[in-house]
Amino acid sequence: MAKYKEQLQAMGFGYDDVTSVAYRKINDIAFIVRVNTASKEYNVTAACRPAKDGMIDHLRTALHQFASQRQNMLKTAFFEGKQIHICYQISSDITSGVNDSVNFIMYCVNQFECVSCCSICGKFDAVDVYSVESNVSALCTGCYGTLQNNIAKNILADSSTKTNYPMGILGAILGGLVGAVVWILFSLMGYIGYIAGFISGFGGIIGFKWLGKKMSTGGIVISIIISFVFLFLAMYLAVGIDLYNQFEAEGLIEMYGLTFKDVLDFIPNAIQLDSKYAGTVVYNNIFGVITFIFSVVLCAVGLRSEGKVKNRSMKLT
Ligand SMILES: [Zn+2]
Repeated sequence: MAKYKEQLQAMGFGYDDVTSVAYRKINDIAFIVRVNTASKEYNVTAACRPAKDGMIDHLRTALHQFASQRQNMLKTAFFEGKQIHICYQISSDITSGVNDSVNFIMYCVNQFECVSCCSICGKFDAVDVYSVESNVSALCTGCYGTLQNNIAKNILADSSTKTNYPMGILGAILGGLVGAVVWILFSLMGYIGYIAGFISGFGGIIGFKWLGKKMSTGGIVISIIISFVFLFLAMYLAVGIDLYNQFEAEGLIEMYGLTFKDVLDFIPNAIQLDSKYAGTVVYNNIFGVITFIFSVVLCAVGLRSEGKVKNRSMKLT
């Protein structure tokens, strides 16, 4: 991503790190470039449309021809009513593709008398590129004002909702319980609990957010602790069930009249006395613990980046 940022900046584009979007105004036309490494493509959009409706068909034909001349790298080029879109297949250097798109769009602007317009309401007006929450778009001041009002309302609504800790904790317990049940079921079926570890990690945090209404740093910590307690209990129970079955097969349960609780109490001794058994227990549980940690980190990072764009609104150009 960083190299595309550098390439775009070298071409005179501004770059918004939070949304990873590049923007630039050329002769009042607002350009936005989005690089999508996951789908291996990048999009160049320009907020403008022909001043005369009679030119729209000509513009569409020109874009169609442009696309068919560059079949190998260009994916699509079209006009949707308020913006011209050109989508290229990604390469290690996107400079020539972006230049090609920008030049062609500027040619269209001249040829088909396109005028800058708002990408929401379509009004012919001076537009700027704004970032509102996680969306970056070319807007007129009217549309930006409306979006800003919505954000102001959200902030008000947000500050009036408080984290409900008792309910959040209940949610985390329910989520942790689901993870624990899945863990035990998986272990009974003889699987190592990769997925169960995942569910345990997500379960607590999702449960907290679900019933606690609002996530907080404290909520994340509480959820992780609760989830881990349940995961630990589930591991312990699963080992107990395994050991009980083993003892039963060896006839020890009947011989000594052992209960399930006796077996559970015996686990620490079994682990201490038999290093080979301890190794098996570690092997059966370590992967679940790793996926648990992984999912917890993923959740925390997700919530953090959600917080970054939440209620964010700013003018980029
Ligand atoms: Zn507008």
